[in-house]
Parts: sequence; structure tokens; C-alpha cells
Amino acid sequence: METLIRKIDNLNIDSEIIKEAAGILQRGGLVAFPTETVYGLGANGLSEEACKKIYEAKGRPSDNPLILHIGDFAQLEQIVEEVPALAKKVMDAFWPGPLTLIFKKKPCVPNSVTGGLDTVGVRFPSNMVARELIRESKLPIAAPSANSSGKPSPTKASHVKFDLDGKVEMIIDGGSTDFGLESTIVDVTGDVAVILRPGAITKEMLVDLLGYAEVDPAILARGTSNAVPKAPGMKYTHYSPKAQVILVKGETSVVVEKINSLVAENQAKGLKVGVMATDETKDRYKADIVLSVGARNDEIAIGASLFKILRKFDFFAADIVYSEVFAETGEGLAIMNRLNKAAGYNYIEV
Ligand code: AMP
Ligand code: MG
Repeated sequence: METLIRKIDNLNIDSEIIKEAAGILQRGGLVAFPTETVYGLGANGLSEEACKKIYEAKGRPSDNPLILHIGDFAQLEQIVEEVPALAKKVMDAFWPGPLTLIFKKKPCVPNSVTGGLDTVGVRFPSNMVARELIRESKLPIAAPSANSSGKPSPTKASHVKFDLDGKVEMIIDGGSTDFGLESTIVDVTGDVAVILRPGAITKEMLVDLLGYAEVDPAILARGTSNAVPKAPGMKYTHYSPKAQVILVKGETSVVVEKINSLVAENQAKGLKVGVMATDETKDRYKADIVLSVGARNDEIAIGASLFKILRKFDFFAADIVYSEVFAETGEGLAIMNRLNKAAGYNYIEV
């Protein structure tokens, strides 16, 4: 299959491109499209057959459910059994936006969307290209991230092309995504809101709104316990470049010194070594590839560039990458969740 690439101007959306893409979805095909989090790999969310193609294209395990993307509240009622008061409060505050909520599903939602669960993840994105596509296709669009399973999520159309060229009918190129980390997933089917995957809508924001919110203990356990994550996708190794990633924790100047000595050791073995630094430290490293994720206190910028930087280490063919770590407050919890997974929870404390 030849993959069509259609460049779109977010401020002046070409309705012909949206119609062409909506037609592909209605005929059961796959379209990758930008959202405010990462690029999504979309299919008709009410078609078992169309959704199966997503798993094939990504090489995704069949028990890892997809997220349904909706464009208005009427569409929500079409696919979920009930909207609990807790969900209503969270939706009113954060939709449209980078937040997925878990609901009890209606029978019309296919098993290939939910991985056999009786719940469904739903998101109302704010990105206008995504919203136009949902409106024009008149469908809830099932979409996980548009990467090959296990690779860092795509934040640019070129990342999608690299992973899925020939496996998807169209890629809509809407430039770089705003947040660069996948949506926060919150279970609102119980008495309290439980974060199943951290993201740009933070625990602190939910606590401000609701007075109380929990994080799934399996997320905080960092791979050290047998706790099974409630979001099935969180149990898989993710976001990994080909290089081995190792995190180095400690006081900054000690971390820089330690990483530089590890770089030298590995270079002596003939390995190509990368360092994931910050703007403050990048000039202090002596490695084959030094890339900054942004200024240390700017977690929004770090979130937006993390996956792009992880992919760059692959591009430069690094064998091993050492990375600094970040505080796990605010969006930092999401950043460290993705970094820990990229590193397979491998870290050195200095
Ligand atoms: P992706 O869009 O690639 O980030 O994948 C969707 C994520 O949503 C995966 O981590 C899934 O495990 C999660 N997800 C989707 N539906 C549900 C659900 N019903 N319950 C819990 N997690 C879900
Ligand atoms: Mg994904």
C-alpha cells in the first residue's frame, strides 16, 4: 500500500484533505493524524474489522486496548453506559484536552477496541485537525499512538512515516504536537478518580478540582513489584530506542562527573555513547551524542521533546544512552514514567 502524506495548515484547515481522510476511515482504512498529545493511528471505532488493522499495523498485543476519540458529548452517550457525576466534573474541567477517561462501555463498542474489557477509554481531543476529522467522518475514531509497538510515541509526521510507511493509507502532517506525551488516563468508574497513566493533566490538577485523587499503585511501583497496572498498555516495555538507556540519579555535578566517566569507559570498549542532558548541563558532557531535552525547570518543554530526543539517539545509532532524571511532581511524574520505561527501570544512584 502506498501511504499518502497530506500536509495541513492547523490555522487554515483544508476541508478537502479532511474529506479524503474521513472517506478512508468510513471505508474501514487507517489514517494517522495529529492530536495535542502525540500522533494517533485512527480507524472506525465502531468496526471490529477496521480496528483489527490497527493492531496489525503497529504489531500491538491484542490485549492492549485502544482509545475512542469523540468530538462532542452526544457521541459519548452513543458508546458508554453511564456518565457518573465524578466523570462529569472531570470532563467539564479538562475536555477537550489531553485526558482519557475510563467508562463502562455499551455493546456497540467492539472487543478489538477494548481488548475484551467491559470498559472503554474515551478522549475528546482539543487539536482542531483531530476534531475536524471526527466531525467529518461522523465516527468515534479508535486511535492508539501511531508508532510501532514498543517504540517512542510519534510527535511528528516523519516519526509516523518512519514506523508505519506502507501500513497506513494516509498520514495527515499537522507539524509537531503540543504536549508530546500521551494523554493522562483516569478511571472514573469508582468512588474516586484513579490515574492509570500520568500525563499533562497532573495529579495536582485533579486534586485541585476534586480534593482527592489516586495514582494506580502499579505506576508508582516502578517495576519492582508484581502489581498489575490497570491500564493494560502500562505493563509493556515502551518508548525504547534501540540503545540501552540508563538513568543516573543524584546531585547534578556528581551526576555529570559520573556520566562522563561512564561515557569514557564505554567509548574505550568501542561503543557509541549518548547523553540525554538539560540546557544547563549539555556543555559539560563529553560524549559522541549529547542532546538536551530542555531547561530543567520547564517540564512542559521537556514533555514536548522527550520522545523526539529518544528517537534521535536511534537516528545517530547510539549503543548506550545515559540520562539525567527529573522531579516526579506535576508533569514530571509522566516524564519519569516514560523515561523509566525507556530505561527498563535501569538506574544508577550516585
Ligand atoms: P496509546 O493510545 O497507544 O497510548 O494506548 C492506549 C492506552 O490506553 C493503553 O495504555 C491502554 O492500556 C489504555 N486503555 C485503553 N482502554 C482502556 C481501558 N478500558 N482500561 C484501562 N486502560 C485502557
Ligand atoms: Mg502507545
